[in-house]
Amino acid sequence: MAKPKLFSPGPVDVAQETYAAMCGPTIGHRGADFEELYASIQPGIQQVAMTERPVFFSTSSAWGVMEGAIRNLVQKKVLNLCCGAFSDKWFGVAKSCGKEAEAIQVDWGQPIDPEAVRAKLSEGGFDTVTLVHNETSTGCLNPLKEIAAVVREFDDVLLVVDTVSSFSALPIPCDELGIDVMLCGVQKALALPPGLALFVTSERAQQRAAQVSDRGYYFDFLEFQKNHEKNNTPSTPAIPHLYALKERVDHMLAEGLENRYQRHEKTNQMLLDWGAGHGFEPLPPEGFRSKTLVCFKTPDNLDLSGWIKAVRNNHGLLINGGYGKIKGTTFRISNMGNETPETMKELFDALDAELPKFLS
Ligand SMILES: *Cc1c(COP(=O)(O)O)cnc(C)c1O
Repeated sequence: MAKPKLFSPGPVDVAQETYAAMCGPTIGHRGADFEELYASIQPGIQQVAMTERPVFFSTSSAWGVMEGAIRNLVQKKVLNLCCGAFSDKWFGVAKSCGKEAEAIQVDWGQPIDPEAVRAKLSEGGFDTVTLVHNETSTGCLNPLKEIAAVVREFDDVLLVVDTVSSFSALPIPCDELGIDVMLCGVQKALALPPGLALFVTSERAQQRAAQVSDRGYYFDFLEFQKNHEKNNTPSTPAIPHLYALKERVDHMLAEGLENRYQRHEKTNQMLLDWGAGHGFEPLPPEGFRSKTLVCFKTPDNLDLSGWIKAVRNNHGLLINGGYGKIKGTTFRISNMGNETPETMKELFDALDAELPKFLS
């Protein structure tokens, strides 16, 4: 059976042009051809990341850098802001790295309250905070600007932000907000196949890492900085992914970042309107909803798995039936990456065609 087009919130559908770009020649990474490729991606990706700092390329999924940030930065204690599957797991990862960690835990679907962050940091003893900007498991968009401002009130506390499912879909002014580590994987908002992560480190993050022992090698921030100065990566990079990244960055700049943000805004609103038309309620409260997916509560009278299967089998389109402990009680639909009003309309037509068969 042909594989369905993915409307699940990661990995997402990849454009044919992106696949084609990945077929570029294999080149040695310690030579001029690679340095040229590396350098050619920087200005564009820095523009997308809204930073003047280097953007590092890690041959790993996002978790590599998420764990790496803990190992590079935490000397005293990390505060993990937990509001869903990915942010909750980061707390577990911090502890498994042997670091002291505390969590602020809110119910899944709810955002992190900046006041709670201020209260917790005021207790003292913390040197790092982790935040998932767009909690993909619940469709909740956290108030990044407000939380970043709170963290900046505390001199020696660094802020690490996961933007895996929001990067490039809405403006995230990395430098202006004073984010110390901003990271993302490429298979969600960037619409590349999985296998690469990107990250930016502040000067402060580099200084901190220099004082931390046991950083390891593969995700050592100092190694990334040192190699960047020669337009290179610490170890052999996923060259096909870098060709793909270059193709997508060029595509984004040709579309125009502002147009790209507006396209996401529009397709996301279409998704919310479609849901409202069926009485499907988003899990997160208004004002804290993702721009790249919607996580709806499953109504009691809907056979969710039957519906998803029918849309997959009869229309070749795949949405997601919920993640982690809210699997089944919620479902998620993505509008991230390359989706347009036209492709969203195709999805809604398929969902609508099958829906009546699965409502009781
Ligand atoms: C998918 C996702 C991750 C994990 O990405 P991997 O590619 O599995 O490493 C982390 N954070 C968020 C917000 C995600 O959506």
